[in-house]
Amino acid sequence: MKSQEIRSSFLEFFRERGHRPSPSAPLVPQGDATLLFANAGMVPFKNFFLGAEKPPSPRAVSVQKCLRVSGKHNDLENVGPSPRHHTFFEMLGNFSFGDYFKEDAIRFAWDLITRVWKLPVDRLSATVYEEDDEAYDLWRRLSDLPAERIHRCGKKDNFWAMGETGPCGPSSEIFVDLHPEQPAVSWDAGTESGRYLEIWNLVFMQYVRDEEGNLTPLPNPSIDTGAGLERVAAVLQGVDSNYETDLFRPILDAAAALAGLRYGQDQDKDVSLRVIADHVRAVSFLLADGVIPGNEGRGYVLRRILRRAVRHGMRLGFEGPFFHKLVPVLGEVMGSAYLELAETRQASVATIHAEEEKFFATVANGSRQVQSEIERLRGEGTSILPGEIAFRLYDTYGLPREIIREIAEEERFGVDEAGFEEMLRKQREVARKATQELQNRMAALREVIRGHAELAETRFEGYERTEIADAEVVRLATWKDGAPERVSNLSAGQAGVVVLDQTVFYAESGGQVGDTGEILWDGGRARVVDTQKDSSGVIFHFVELEQGQISRHMRVALRVDHELRLATQRNHTATHIVHAALRQVLGKSVRQAGSLVAPDRLRFDYTYHRGLFRQEMEKLEDLVNEWVRRAVGLEIVTRSYQEAVAAGAMALFGEKYGERVRTVNVPGVSLELCGGCHVRNTGEIGLFLVESERGVASGVRRIEAVTGDYALQEVRRQRAAYDELTQRLGIRSGDFDQQLQKAEQLRQRQNDLENEMKRLRMQLVSGATQAEEEMTVDGIRVLAREVPPAPANELRDIADALRSKLGSGVVVIGARGDGNVSLVAAVTKDLTGRVRAGDLVKRLSPIVGGGGGGRPDFAQAGGKDPDKLPEALAAVKDAVKEQLAR
Ligand code: ATP
Ligand code: MG
Repeated sequence: MKSQEIRSSFLEFFRERGHRPSPSAPLVPQGDATLLFANAGMVPFKNFFLGAEKPPSPRAVSVQKCLRVSGKHNDLENVGPSPRHHTFFEMLGNFSFGDYFKEDAIRFAWDLITRVWKLPVDRLSATVYEEDDEAYDLWRRLSDLPAERIHRCGKKDNFWAMGETGPCGPSSEIFVDLHPEQPAVSWDAGTESGRYLEIWNLVFMQYVRDEEGNLTPLPNPSIDTGAGLERVAAVLQGVDSNYETDLFRPILDAAAALAGLRYGQDQDKDVSLRVIADHVRAVSFLLADGVIPGNEGRGYVLRRILRRAVRHGMRLGFEGPFFHKLVPVLGEVMGSAYLELAETRQASVATIHAEEEKFFATVANGSRQVQSEIERLRGEGTSILPGEIAFRLYDTYGLPREIIREIAEEERFGVDEAGFEEMLRKQREVARKATQELQNRMAALREVIRGHAELAETRFEGYERTEIADAEVVRLATWKDGAPERVSNLSAGQAGVVVLDQTVFYAESGGQVGDTGEILWDGGRARVVDTQKDSSGVIFHFVELEQGQISRHMRVALRVDHELRLATQRNHTATHIVHAALRQVLGKSVRQAGSLVAPDRLRFDYTYHRGLFRQEMEKLEDLVNEWVRRAVGLEIVTRSYQEAVAAGAMALFGEKYGERVRTVNVPGVSLELCGGCHVRNTGEIGLFLVESERGVASGVRRIEAVTGDYALQEVRRQRAAYDELTQRLGIRSGDFDQQLQKAEQLRQRQNDLENEMKRLRMQLVSGATQAEEEMTVDGIRVLAREVPPAPANELRDIADALRSKLGSGVVVIGARGDGNVSLVAAVTKDLTGRVRAGDLVKRLSPIVGGGGGGRPDFAQAGGKDPDKLPEALAAVKDAVKEQLAR
């Protein structure tokens, strides 16, 4: 059975039994900050199990993309050596949200495995939690498993919990014997060796655990199951390892071919090949889901996986980027099941290639640094690389620890690992403190404002208007010694936070900055400098009291800075249009990676593997301006998430959306889910101008642009700069072509003048030599002379000219600059065996307070003491004598 048939037979089996098929959620959990990546099929359904949200149907079935590289499930180190563990894998799962329970869960699994997948009963075993008699009896009753193949196991393997507190319960796992033809072995030996392979885990969510660890039965117990597609495929395709299945074999073979190897010939190399084949899946799927390589969070995990693959590639002998070449192979294997792979393939290849290049360069450069440190230390008689140095190499050059260790080993050096750990610990401590402080400050503010009583979400009235005459002050806070403190009033001169029952101030979110403006009341005024909100929708107005006093329960008027808000709205709508235009110019693989919408500018980050060409940039500007000129009215409606997505609304990656969502439609141009503020009609945007387009991280580009009045101002600024420039150059008159011509003439003239000056300087110094400068030492002609200040390359030319003029001899020239001095020595080839320019400079430069050196025929030095130049030149004769005497 091909893997695609396994996926569809699973979905079909459960669909026939009343389960709603649910497409895989992205690897990055939506609106769940507690988890870096989806690591099981149940992740997207968490809120249904917790009762926080109502499921659209009480039964669901899915094939979920999973990644187990961090947190509770981390299989990363095991990937490569293990034939059945991956970083990225697909989990087949059926779910019951308070609907059916153990009996159906077991029956469904048994029927699917034995009837649809037709695995012989004598290859199967099951485990249950040791105290779960109910599950044990069900297995006995519903399956044909003999008692000796139903194993009771402990908490570690067969009790599942969502977290420290919350839903939990016993589980039951299904195992397959991979070698039924061999004599049976004990349960422990068989599971340990991997011969008895766990393919499916059924979790019976039956209790809730509280803080004290007490278990309370759930009124409506639930079912969560997970079967690894790769393991099921190995069993159904009759192979020993997941890597031999149709999911992996083509990738493995392609990797081996690139390395000039064959899979299965050498155990160590096979491990590396498996790592590479596994990691190309994880890396590609992460990129396809919008994760970008970076130095923290998800981006860092992605970079680590990618680098782990590349390091294994280095072990196989790759000396340059290779990993990206496997992306198209993966596309062939999985592209039809996961359309996002095809859509992002080109961008992924480019991003991976860039990352690889950087990493190969890092390792090459870092290795040289390690080598030179080792040489230095060896000179000092030690053979240990101190932790501090190893850490510096790791920290500043980004050189992986393993590579430092490997090089050290080759050089028979040890690495002070304890010292390294200590440095690492210190660095982490510093970073942890910094982020914690920031989090604490926001959390403290939230805490103080909320107090014990519940605080309702602030009603936002600001989409339609920017003023309200009558809002009530609900809470007030200020800062005391840097800590927030709840107060009942604020007076002129104080800074603080105001919470109201309703507001027209937009709180920063979705890239749009918070509004500014004023809060007004009888005899008083507060300036709103920023607006933020917390996760439950309470809006904080950060204020500075300018006049009077504000207290709780007072009624106040609100006025948002109207012009600024209008400017922000122009930029927000323009951002949506830019997104649509980019997709038209560069294709659908362009993905938004972030945005900033402020009154004075907009910033749009997107993933793409290269910068825009000039024509593309102009095409983008043209498209946006054309859509602006069409002056179409925006249609903004609130509807259910399902409806919105069905209508084709683009949901932005990593944003959290509730059940009801707001869609912003620029008819004929773009449809996005967005909670921000927009113009009524695109015509309001006026003019759109791109200010810059550049790379901000590997694979991520940033467009900065201006609209409306700011665009007009930008044109004026450019015009003024141009006027200023032409005026200063004295080419103000005439049309543009004439000005260009004049500018060219100016440049040409400047060039001519410089050349003329150079010629004159040369003439000046190389003219007839004066007797006192030229001398003979032991029959060698020696010339020492001060020359007028000139750029370094010209000094070299002068020394060169003088040397050729001598035919055979030694030249030393010096030039005084402002607070510095240059010395150049040149020796004709026939004499370098007796007098060396480098040594001359070494001997002379200390006189002028400097140092330097160079080749035997040519050397240069600088000094800081111009007044000593005559002394240095006077010493030339002796210096040459000394050298000849050696
Ligand atoms: P194991 O003990 O083999 O690591 P597990 O107990 O961690 O497995 P579960 O968390 O119960 O596995 O996940 C359910 C199913 O998902 C497993 O039965 C297996 O088929 C599959 N699975 C789990 N981890 C991986 C992995 N790293 N790679 C591939 N498949 C996996
Ligand atoms: Mg595991």
